[in-house]
Amino acid sequence: MGTGASAGVASGLSACSDAELQACLKDIPREQRDKVVEALKAAGGGGKRTAVLGANWKSNPKTSAEVKDLAAAFVNQKFDRSKVEVVIFPTGVHLMALKQQLGDSGIEVGVQNISKTGMGAFTGEIPAAMAADLGVTWALIGHSERRALYGETIDDTVAKLKNAQEAGLKVMFACGESLEEREGGKTDEVNKAQLEPVLGLVSDWSKFVIAYEPVWAIGTGKVATPEQAEETIANIRAFVKEKCGGDVADKVRIQYGGSSSPDNIEGLASRNGIDGFLVGGASLKPTFTGMIEYLTR
Ligand code: PEP
Repeated sequence: MGTGASAGVASGLSACSDAELQACLKDIPREQRDKVVEALKAAGGGGKRTAVLGANWKSNPKTSAEVKDLAAAFVNQKFDRSKVEVVIFPTGVHLMALKQQLGDSGIEVGVQNISKTGMGAFTGEIPAAMAADLGVTWALIGHSERRALYGETIDDTVAKLKNAQEAGLKVMFACGESLEEREGGKTDEVNKAQLEPVLGLVSDWSKFVIAYEPVWAIGTGKVATPEQAEETIANIRAFVKEKCGGDVADKVRIQYGGSSSPDNIEGLASRNGIDGFLVGGASLKPTFTGMIEYLTR
């Protein structure tokens, strides 16, 4: 099979779910099947994008003892890092204690909000380079609470992305529409407006994840239907393709966020193109391990 042919097959297979890919290759012995998947990946497609599971703890929990209890519950959950990357975003106050408690579990730690400026006279800000120096590996940028409650503008998200990348941090970049915007048929327009200025700046697509989070679903218990999540994420991926090409669109991981939990993960995760979750409330419970377990299957 020539490179062109394998790339063609690969890009076709890249749209397959794990189960579909396994079904396509079912007659091939296990060892050879793994080699075929590797070859497909090398050809620029095939296989499944590694899932990403983020836990956004916001300004919780109240005590360091609770942080310790949660960390203890999570470190006991075995998971396969080739199938799912797991990252917890605690408050800045709990960053280092949590990092130590997670030890070598493979669960990473990220900052919920990094500074759009660097080092210097910027009271109250956490510069990306300082976070990276402490071994923090992720930054969450563009969360709707930062945009709505703290006036984070699209230009701010651009500056933060540049700083995070320069410091070597991986980025979970959130976008999403309000209820009014969804009801007004503006969902795709809003996502495009939030993403357009940053897509052209991404320096490493393996370190940039889009978290599609409909604002009306965050913290409300009103989860998007699997159909709504799948459709909007497909539209975001089509936009990435239009702006950055098919290879990037095949590669970029897009999560769903908004009242997801161990109880509703199955319906959402079985949909095409949903590469993981950004989780708020449900990540503050020991049962969050159910989501890690689900994605590592
Ligand atoms: C979030 O804050 O990113 C989030 C998705 O919260 P929740 O899961 O509580 O809706």
